[in-house]
Amino acid sequence: MSLLQSLDDLYFDNRFVAQLPADKQTENVCRQVVGACYSHVLPTPARDPKTIIVSSDVAELLNLSEEVCASDDFTQVFAGNRLVEGMQPYAMCYGGHQFGQWGGQLGDGRAINLGEVVNAQQAHWTLQLKGAGKTPYSRQSDGLAVLRSSVREFLCSEAMFHLGVPTTRALSLVLTGEKVWRDMFYDGNGAYESGAVVCRVAPSFTRFGHFEIFAARGDITRLKQLVDFTIRTDFSELGEPSADVYLKWFSQVCLRTAQMVVHWQRVGFVHGVMNTDNMSILGLTIDYGPYGWLEDFNLIWTPNTTDSELKRYCFGHQPKMAFWNLAQLANAIYPLIGDASLLQATLNESYTQHFQQGWQTMMLEKLGLPHSLNQTDDLLLSDLIHLLQLTQTDMTLFYRQLAKVDFSVALEMLDLTVLDDAYYTPELLDHTYKKARTAWLEKYYRRLRDLNVSETERVLRMNAVNPLYVPRNYLLQCAIEEADKGNFDEIHQLFNVFRAPYQENSQWAKYSQKRPDWAKEKAGCSMLSCSS
Ligand code: AMP
Ligand code: MG
Repeated sequence: MSLLQSLDDLYFDNRFVAQLPADKQTENVCRQVVGACYSHVLPTPARDPKTIIVSSDVAELLNLSEEVCASDDFTQVFAGNRLVEGMQPYAMCYGGHQFGQWGGQLGDGRAINLGEVVNAQQAHWTLQLKGAGKTPYSRQSDGLAVLRSSVREFLCSEAMFHLGVPTTRALSLVLTGEKVWRDMFYDGNGAYESGAVVCRVAPSFTRFGHFEIFAARGDITRLKQLVDFTIRTDFSELGEPSADVYLKWFSQVCLRTAQMVVHWQRVGFVHGVMNTDNMSILGLTIDYGPYGWLEDFNLIWTPNTTDSELKRYCFGHQPKMAFWNLAQLANAIYPLIGDASLLQATLNESYTQHFQQGWQTMMLEKLGLPHSLNQTDDLLLSDLIHLLQLTQTDMTLFYRQLAKVDFSVALEMLDLTVLDDAYYTPELLDHTYKKARTAWLEKYYRRLRDLNVSETERVLRMNAVNPLYVPRNYLLQCAIEEADKGNFDEIHQLFNVFRAPYQENSQWAKYSQKRPDWAKEKAGCSMLSCSS
């Protein structure tokens, strides 16, 4: 396949703009945008842009050659300074429930879509600049993004892809050369930070909130228009829109959301802000803000300081919060279906049941066990969750180290010393803990024997679903601190490490270490805010 030698060779087919109603007002001032799905808006040019990193994987998706990605033109285009022929920049209108409350109109306050690229495989990929200036939806904010949050968004979206988690992608990370004022912890200690723009890439950036805003405004015509458009463009396998297809579509959204959350629980990802405006209709992880990775296994952990009291979006709540969000989507599309019991039944079947099964299968895979609906397994899993919380246990390392224990020996001969690496305080493991662990290992041992799982099979299975390298907050923070000093090597290094998260590599030993003590209470490592 031939690669494009110039960004001007990109082919755009801007369906969202062509088929959905536009805001008639074209001035870039903040306002309530009624009766439209989007507003035309131009990115604000950046003073002195510089490309930090480009994802070669995403460039390939867009058929861009290495030379194009290394060019100054690339930097100009993906900083928002130049439009390529065919681009029609726009910001989308959406609403959302934030932390359980209806927030009214939100919209792309600092995201500007450039258009939909059609690649050689005829797939549509929307390009979206995050941090390229104000839009009609910016409300009181500046429409900008800072380097620290952009590094986090860039690295995590690409890491998630390689972990096998549905996600929006990131093409590029560009410094704007502008300074941006941020009060990171909203405590009066503001500072200027470097501005940056990430180009995000996804088949669509439509969120649950896109539908909610029309329902909230009683604009059923636009609601139907957007649902029909979404079905025709991204769910065409369901057939032409009809009452029956609306329900099938909702069922699909439920299934995809369930799968996404199962993956989050598998890899220990905590989104941090699961508001309905941050829920993708395609079931993609979207909007990487104050997210975090479970280190010590703690169901009520959240990295988001804004949520530290209620812990609405902590690790253990993510499945039920996704359900709550889907219920808001169901409310929004109710006028098109007119039967609440059908929506309710779909939510239960396609989300709750599907999640339950998916979660159980996933957890058994993490242990190298085949799927079987069996009460012994229920107990095995619930005991494991209990065990992981008895002492500070690094979730990622626990599963990788468990794969290293040799289960081919007699039960009494199991050598558990490798597990020590997974504990934050291995010297404090007491009698109660060891007793619980022995009891659990006995159950696990028997299950492996009952199901005839060989050691080779077990290790292969486990290491295929239990990653070794994940974007631990402290690793990202180290890369950010270097980047703030103008050194981007660590960003490149982490990008490479996260491209092969399941494959142990002796050169990368330092990237699989549990969180060091210095990072325990450090801003950016354990505490993050929505400020970005
Ligand atoms: P988030 O919490 O990042 O999902 O953002 C919630 C809403 O606030 C969205 O409508 C964003 O577009 C908007 N927003 C967040 N940060 C900014 C900013 N710096 N400038 C303008 N809008 C923003
Ligand atoms: Mg958002």
